[in-house]
Amino acid sequence: MELLDGKLVSKKTKDELKAEVSLLKEKGITPRLAVIMVGNDSASQIYVRNKNKACEYIGIEFEEYLLPEETKQDELLSLIDKLNNKKEVNGILLQSPIPRHLDINEAFRRISPEKDVDGFNPINVGKLVLGQDTFISCTPFGIMKILEDYNIEIEGKNAVVIGRSNIVGKPMSQCLLNKNATVTICHSKTRDLSSITKNADILVAAIGKPCFVTEDMIKPGAVVIDVGINRMEDGKIKGDVDFENVKDKVSYITPVPGGVGPMTIAMLMTNVVKATKNQNR
Ligand code: NDP
Repeated sequence: MELLDGKLVSKKTKDELKAEVSLLKEKGITPRLAVIMVGNDSASQIYVRNKNKACEYIGIEFEEYLLPEETKQDELLSLIDKLNNKKEVNGILLQSPIPRHLDINEAFRRISPEKDVDGFNPINVGKLVLGQDTFISCTPFGIMKILEDYNIEIEGKNAVVIGRSNIVGKPMSQCLLNKNATVTICHSKTRDLSSITKNADILVAAIGKPCFVTEDMIKPGAVVIDVGINRMEDGKIKGDVDFENVKDKVSYITPVPGGVGPMTIAMLMTNVVKATKNQNR
């Protein structure tokens, strides 16, 4: 078994971006990310702080808009419009969750597709489905980067994705399909899940249930990608895969923490640099 070290790939990716950004700066171009946060979600505050840190490391300018809990939809949309029109801003990110009285889908639609570094605008989602160049949702994009970095073959392989969320499961399946895997998507209504997962050469678990995937669900030699981040009562983070139980049966596996997690921010940074280059072509 070999560990897929997301921390390492993330560091490498960020170092490459840092070098790229310093070349852009020599040409007078500085990438800039604008982050909008509505309300006081404590986990979001940590995520935004980490995004800020990654920007600082790479040399990306960062601007933060903290809107109060009672923000109205039209106020949120008009901030997005303002950032869409602000030339110095290359990427816009709306941190989720946002308060329930707001319509997040309308907000995602409002972010200009050229600045949609999270890849949530339906135009960018559509481009992914059509196999066109686009901004890919950062977590699946990061998983593809790990697979590429470790030279893991995808073409012709049976790939099974457990989970069909808009931010992980669906774009993940599409990315694997675009690389010519034969893809099966499973979800809470799937019958006899393990009979499907047992045929997976590549298994991606994005469920949100600790240690859900057990040894008897795995094909010997499979590549296992664990997206889950489950905080346990003792404060420890556990993945969706029962790591200790499956590790001797697989060829590759991502640890939690230190696997998929660190890649998500690195790919956000990749998307910001890409947006900047596209806008300055
Ligand atoms: P969602 O809750 O949006 O989706 C979970 C999916 O799992 C759903 O499609 C659901 O099916 C499916 N599911 C639930 N129970 C079962 C079951 N018993 N059998 C089969 N499928 C099941 O979660 P996300 O996709 O947003 O996130 C998944 C996990 O990944 C979470 O732990 C989250 O914290 C983590 N995550 C990690 C990131 C990272 O950077 N590493 C980024 C984003 C998420 P159905 O659609 O039928 O309800």
